[in-house]
Amino acid sequence: MDKKILVTGGSGLVGQHLQDILPEAIYVSSSAYDLTKMSDVKEMMIDFEPNVVIHLAARVGGIVDNINYPVDYLEENVLMNTNVLKACHEFNVEKVIAILSTCIYPDVVDTYPMREEDLFNGPPTETNFSYGFAKRCMAAHIDAYRKQYDKKWSYLIPCNLYGEYDKYEEHHSHFISALIKKIYEAEDSIELWGTGKPLRQFMYGGDLARVIKYMIDEDVVGSFNVAPEWVHSINDLAEIGKKACLKEKLVVNYDCTKPDGQFRKDVDSSKLLSVLKDFEFTSLEKGIKKVYDKFSQRHNR
Ligand code: NAP
Repeated sequence: MDKKILVTGGSGLVGQHLQDILPEAIYVSSSAYDLTKMSDVKEMMIDFEPNVVIHLAARVGGIVDNINYPVDYLEENVLMNTNVLKACHEFNVEKVIAILSTCIYPDVVDTYPMREEDLFNGPPTETNFSYGFAKRCMAAHIDAYRKQYDKKWSYLIPCNLYGEYDKYEEHHSHFISALIKKIYEAEDSIELWGTGKPLRQFMYGGDLARVIKYMIDEDVVGSFNVAPEWVHSINDLAEIGKKACLKEKLVVNYDCTKPDGQFRKDVDSSKLLSVLKDFEFTSLEKGIKKVYDKFSQRHNR
């Protein structure tokens, strides 16, 4: 297949990592097409006539933003995802890879790490309920297109990400990026939200980009969790971060009046790794150091 690849959400964290390794694709963001409007989505399809669509665009944010704007999270994500999938069908796009998130898994399950078949076995956690349901709708929508129209469409369910292209504004950045900024700016101590006890899996954004590229190059189709096997408490992550950034003496204080969020949501990636033989995730220490060095260079200028 002669591939003409269109990437939505091209200006985001994952989109920019993908640009580094897939420069031949076309990258679009909200400034060119507002995907909540079907007229814009159709215009985009007519403009580029892609046969592969990587759908990264989403309303994404931190815990506070999710709590404060549940309607916006639900409506914008449902509209974007529905419009993009319907247009991909109408314009005969052969391959779609859409990105979900481990945040959309049930709040609690009996056995961890969670597998792909656990996705609908219970409601998502309260703090990102709207985002979770909107993304689950996209999973159900893609499954339906596979059944009714035999589409070779896929979705990936990645864990929390970090990377040099993350946003660093308060309430928008993800945990590791916020941690790196705090460590960079701190002299003696940093303060983190919650108890420090919740467990998290974090992946370097460039690793997800490599998985997406592999799926295109090797024509892989399916639904896969994407996460490294390691799981750490927030407290352990702060310690790894301090060490990677060579600021081991910093004291970490916890504001227990602030929410912890979901206690754990670690997933099992063995289904993906049985297809992507020899794939190696970037270690947290190496990834955090890389992002910290880039962050420092930008801010020392
Ligand atoms: P991001 O940095 O927040 O970027 C979001 C992208 O979506 C931007 O390019 C943005 O364009 C675009 N977008 C938002 N609203 C839009 C609209 N109405 N019309 C068109 N484009 C719109 O997100 P990310 O971190 O790269 O995430 C990429 C995907 O991975 C998302 O689907 C997300 O749910 C998923 N994911 C992310 C994480 C994580 O920790 N970051 C974890 C798991 C899954 P503008 O720049 O123009 O606003």
